[in-house]
Amino acid sequence: MSNTEIEKSFKILKSTLPLLLKHKISAIPTNYALWYTYVSNDSPQLNQDIDESLEKGHPLSTVKAKELYRNYLSEKQEVDAWQLRQSMEAMVLEVSQSMKDTQADTTQFKTVMDASLDNLAKVEKEGLTVKEVMALVRNMVKESQAIRQSTSSFSSALSKAENEIKSLKAKLQESQQDAMYDALTGLCNRRYFDSELESKMGIDKLCLMLIDIDHFKVVNDTHGHLMGDLVLKAVAKKLQSGCRENAQVFRYGGEEFVVLMPGADLQKARHVADVLRRSIEKISVKDRRTGVVLSDVTVSVGVAQKAKNEQPSDLLERADKMLYKAKTLGRNRVMPIS
Ligand code: GH3
Ligand code: MG
Ligand code: MG
Repeated sequence: MSNTEIEKSFKILKSTLPLLLKHKISAIPTNYALWYTYVSNDSPQLNQDIDESLEKGHPLSTVKAKELYRNYLSEKQEVDAWQLRQSMEAMVLEVSQSMKDTQADTTQFKTVMDASLDNLAKVEKEGLTVKEVMALVRNMVKESQAIRQSTSSFSSALSKAENEIKSLKAKLQESQQDAMYDALTGLCNRRYFDSELESKMGIDKLCLMLIDIDHFKVVNDTHGHLMGDLVLKAVAKKLQSGCRENAQVFRYGGEEFVVLMPGADLQKARHVADVLRRSIEKISVKDRRTGVVLSDVTVSVGVAQKAKNEQPSDLLERADKMLYKAKTLGRNRVMPIS
């Protein structure tokens, strides 16, 4: 305990325990020692003597207290008084620490303390016997121990709950990630696209583009699946960086992507699609294992603007028809032309 802590705890001690000693016995270290020993039941002989004296209806006079001290405690004397003060201070410090620990226990502690202080006020008003006062002290000590226990179990329960919440949050986030994102490209996935499209069907102006990599099967067949994956990632990255403002990119499935453009008319969407198409033409992917560089990646794009009262599936079908047209006309192009 540092000096300031001792000072602080002694201050608290001074404002509580001396109150209970106030009426009949002066708060000198020998009396602290006496009362403390009584409460702790360390010397049954002493307790018996005090109890007998109380039963006879004698209040514990200063003379009697000195006698008791001499008889039961004086050999241990200064050491005991010092130890007593230390342990009282430690107790008070611990209780006040508990109060800081949790709000719940602060309330509980206050209730106990208020009740005890109320009773102590009675000591002054009604002149309670030492026995009654000692019962109060015992109770205070007992309650503060109970509070200490409930505080430590409460805070361990709290930290356990906190950890559980943390891991639940992480799991939830993971499952949300799984539900929303495509693992390979990091783009939002088909499932998320379906819900986004559904929720945006009420928007007045809405365009949709379907983007399909040309002859992608050949990439896989010639350079292997891993190279195919690298191409998919590169295309996803280009689409993502080329989509500004409200445009949202999704991996629709396989080597197909879809872009949702709320607020755009067909002309605007076609323009953006063509910019994206040209940026993909510039992609160059290097397979580090083989050193092979692939630089002829192209896409075909079908664009459609939502018609009034159209269903999502109809809008998608019109975009798909445009995509098919782009493929049959030779690929690496955006349809419709105008
Ligand atoms: P088209 O120009 O007509 O679109 O021809 P295509 O070869 O691109 O189309 P097709 O549908 O015949 O082939 C698509 C291929 O994409 C077949 C499939 O194995 C491959 N593919 C789908 N998903 C993945 C993936 O996650 N990774 C890799 N490497 N290949 C994929
Ligand atoms: Mg395809
Ligand atoms: Mg394809």
